[in-house]
Amino acid sequence: MIIRIYLVLLCSCMARGKIGYFWHITDIHYDPKYSSPGNTDSMCWNIRTDIDSGGIRPARRVAGIFGNYTCDSPWALIESAVLAMKSNQPEEGAEFVLWTGDAVSHNSEMSEELRLQSMKNLTDLLSHTFSSQFVFPALGHEDLGLNYSQQAIFWKHWLPSEALQTFEKSGYYTIEQKSQKYRIISLNTNLWLNTAPGVDNRVSHHHQNQRTGAATGNDNMDDPHNQWSWFEKILRAAKDKKEKVYIVGHTPPGVDERASGASLLQDSHNKRYIQLVRRYASIIGGQFYGHWHSDTFRTIYDEGVPVSWIMMAPSITPGRPNFPNNPGLRLYKFETSSGKILDYTQWYLDLQEANAKGRANWQEQYSLLSYYELKEVSPKNLHDLARRFVKTNDNAFTRYYAANTVFLPREVAHRTGCGGALSGTCAHQHWCSVTCVNPGSYSDCISLNAYALAKGCSPTSRIYIALHVVAALGCLLLSR
Ligand SMILES: [Zn+2]
Ligand SMILES: [Zn+2]
Repeated sequence: MIIRIYLVLLCSCMARGKIGYFWHITDIHYDPKYSSPGNTDSMCWNIRTDIDSGGIRPARRVAGIFGNYTCDSPWALIESAVLAMKSNQPEEGAEFVLWTGDAVSHNSEMSEELRLQSMKNLTDLLSHTFSSQFVFPALGHEDLGLNYSQQAIFWKHWLPSEALQTFEKSGYYTIEQKSQKYRIISLNTNLWLNTAPGVDNRVSHHHQNQRTGAATGNDNMDDPHNQWSWFEKILRAAKDKKEKVYIVGHTPPGVDERASGASLLQDSHNKRYIQLVRRYASIIGGQFYGHWHSDTFRTIYDEGVPVSWIMMAPSITPGRPNFPNNPGLRLYKFETSSGKILDYTQWYLDLQEANAKGRANWQEQYSLLSYYELKEVSPKNLHDLARRFVKTNDNAFTRYYAANTVFLPREVAHRTGCGGALSGTCAHQHWCSVTCVNPGSYSDCISLNAYALAKGCSPTSRIYIALHVVAALGCLLLSR
C-alpha cells in the first residue's frame, strides 16, 4: 500500500510542469443595431423570432442594456465580457486566447461594409485588452461574408507569417509553440459544412456559395482547399516531433444535443474527422469548438475505448433560435510543458440580473473537476461522466443540464429544453449526442432508448474490459 501511494505521488510530481492558462471565447455575434432601452422587435436585428412562439413574455423582450435572450450581443455585453476576462485573469496572466468564430451577427441583411466594421471593432477591442497576448481566431459560419485576405489584414498582428500564408488563401493555419512542445491547429470548418438546403436555417443562402468546393468552382469537393491533406500532414509532423496538438475550430463534428440530431458537417467530412482523431489520439491534447452556443462535450472512441474528447464552450451571445443561454467565458488551465489540459473554470453572466441592476457582474460558474467530481480531464473520465447522465440516483445530468444553458432561468429554459422532466428521454438524448459523434450512430443510439438505456456509441468492448482487468491487476500487485 505504501509503495503504491509513493508511486502515485512520484508520478504526479514528475508529471507536474509549469501551469498556464488560456481563455476560450466563442460566438460573440455582435449586433451593431442593438440599442437599449427599446423593444427587441425594433431595437435589435432580431431575426431570432422563433422563440416568440416558445412563449417568451413581452416583458422579457424589452431590450436590456446587456442584451436579450432573443437578440444577438450588444456592444455593452461584449465590452463587459472582455473586461471580465482582463480582470479575472490568473496572476500569471493567460498565455493566449482562443476565439472560435461567429463574431458577427446572424443577420444576413448586414452589408459587407458593416460586417467588416464589426469585425474590426471586435478585433480592436481584443487587441487593446490583450496587448501582450496572442489571440488565435477561427472562422465561424457567420463570418463567411468576409473573404480570407480581408480577415487576414485584421489579424496579421496575431499570426506569424507562415500561418498568415495559409490563412489568407484558405482560412486555416497552425501555430507551433516551439519552446513548449505543443501546437495549435486552427481549422476552417466552413469548408466541410453540409450544403444541403434546409439543414441549417441559420446559414443564409447568400453565404452558401462561399463554402466548400462551390467557392472556387474547380476545387476538389473531397478535399476543399486541401484542408484534409494539410491537416493530416501537420498531425503526422507533430507526431514525429512528439508535440501535443490542440485542434481548434468553429463547427464541431456530431450533432446538436439540444436540437435532437441536427448536424452541420457533411457526413463524409464528419467521418473523416473522427478517423483522423482516432489515428492521432495519442498526440491530441484537446479539441476546442463553439457553434452550438451551449456548454457541452463529446467523446470519441476507438473500438469502444474512449480515446479523445471535444469541448464546446458556450457563446457570449445569449440569443439562439429556440435555444437561448446566459453569456459564458471559459478559462482553461493546462501544463505548459506538455500541453495537458488540467481543468477549466466557466464564467457566466446572469443576464436578467445584469439588466435589472444595470451592471454586469460576471461570476465564476463552476470548475470542471469539482463540479462533476472528476479526478482529471481524460476521455475515460468524460465517458464515465456521460454514462452517469442515464443512471438513476446520480445528480450528474441535473448539473450538466444546468450548465448546458449556462444557468438559464428555469422559466426560460423549460420552454426550450427538457421541459420539467430532467431524466428519461431527455437525458438519453444528451447521452447519445455526447457519445455518438457520428450522426448515423446517434440515430441508432436514440432508437435504442426504449430497451437499452445507456448503450450509447461506446459498446463496452472486450478491449475496454481487458484494460480494466489489467489496471485492476496492477493495483492489486502494487497494493501488496
Ligand atoms: Zn453562432
Ligand atoms: Zn456557427
